[in-house]
Amino acid sequence: MIRVRKSEDVPASLLLANPIAYDGQDVQAALVIDQDEKCYLCEQQHRQNFQVEHLKPKTIYTRLKYTWTNLFSACPYCNGRKPNDYEILDPSQHNIEDILVQKLDLVNKHIEINTLTPGSQEEFTVKLLKKLFNGKNNIRDIKGQRLYDDLQREVIFFLKLLNDYKNENTPDNKQKIIDHLDIKKEYLAFKYWLLKENHFYDEFESNVVWNKVERILNELKDK
Ligand SMILES: [Zn+2]
Repeated sequence: MIRVRKSEDVPASLLLANPIAYDGQDVQAALVIDQDEKCYLCEQQHRQNFQVEHLKPKTIYTRLKYTWTNLFSACPYCNGRKPNDYEILDPSQHNIEDILVQKLDLVNKHIEINTLTPGSQEEFTVKLLKKLFNGKNNIRDIKGQRLYDDLQREVIFFLKLLNDYKNENTPDNKQKIIDHLDIKKEYLAFKYWLLKENHFYDEFESNVVWNKVERILNELKDK
């Protein structure tokens, strides 16, 4: 899970005096752009198969049901497994990748997630991500296993790119790493921590800013 963009233009269907739906076509279109067609929880490309998810559960925060800042796109797998009583970090407000250490333990085949700052939202986010990638009580169902396998494949491939670059410091090998850090790519949080772990972070720092730069620019523009 990484920081995601949240455009300042609120979709028109949410601005009606009595909104009919929270997942209108304009909401869906805006979320696809803001989140680069990825689920905000698992970072997988949802390939048009997504649901509009309420960050703060609509059952508890009824007044946030039609609130743009509370809406994110999630894949059906993640949306269906996010408990209504979990209040997680808002990825449009926090650099999640800086707060949560997100790593893959290839030996034990599970993900390790820890929070660097204490807090209940941080703890709930850790719990949710562990549940999504490791399964409920560490037992994955078929979809959970598919998600884990996909993440593992990408992590192993990215590690190979880092190793190739370590062994052969060529512009071509460097570019391959940069390409895999593009905002449209999947599992960027895990790649972020692989860079740190392998002492490559300083070299690729300018390629892992994702939404931060855009956000800083927007903030400057507003002043
Ligand atoms: Zn997902």
